[in-house]
Amino acid sequence: MPTEGVTKFAAAHRPGPLVPFAQECAAELLAWRAVVAALGGIGQDPARYDGAGFGNVSVRIPPHGAPRGARRFVITGTQTGGARCLSRDDLCVVERYRIKDNAVDSVGPAAPSSESMTHGAVYDLSPAIRAVVHIHCPLVFEARQALRLPCTQADVDYGTPAMAGEVSRLFRAGADQRQVFAMTAHRDGIVSFGRTLEEATQVLVSLLARAHAMSDSDMVCAPRAALPLVDLRH
Ligand SMILES: [Zn+2]
Repeated sequence: MPTEGVTKFAAAHRPGPLVPFAQECAAELLAWRAVVAALGGIGQDPARYDGAGFGNVSVRIPPHGAPRGARRFVITGTQTGGARCLSRDDLCVVERYRIKDNAVDSVGPAAPSSESMTHGAVYDLSPAIRAVVHIHCPLVFEARQALRLPCTQADVDYGTPAMAGEVSRLFRAGADQRQVFAMTAHRDGIVSFGRTLEEATQVLVSLLARAHAMSDSDMVCAPRAALPLVDLRH
């Protein structure tokens, strides 16, 4: 079982402030991150993934017409999944990602999420994709076949060049319409995307409701995660 949260790409990170475009996106990113965490898709649980934090959110920043590998995005920092409150200091800008070389260049107050390469691979699919949300959700993951989710091959792990190839294959096979796919080898891992964070999150909300409705259980339970707070005071 792959360990959650382990960075597998070569990370060249420069500590520094967020660039102006990222500053402007930060409030929206932190707000939607809090909503996704409230749904249980981002968090930390001692009983899951060896206790590592899970889940991350990103949004594109201009220029939106940038070539593949240079579609800059703001993303939550590595191992922030378990934090109830995030601030701008927990964010990072991925400036370049080289899938073939498995390398990510970033700048910001925090080091990038270990799943930054997967986010970059999704942005490379289309300049119209402006937001990516990655959650861990046992309920949706277990129902992935019944929900007819596009699924990556079982031998392809997250954060690898092979995953980028899988994302591209799924996109061409119809995941572009669904705006979501399951990461088969990354337990409970689901990725959604859209033109906005609201759109990408809505895809997950709809899946969650459908998965709940399909379950055999008489009792439908909310996630155990505590409602997080967004702290923008810093
Ligand atoms: Zn993950």
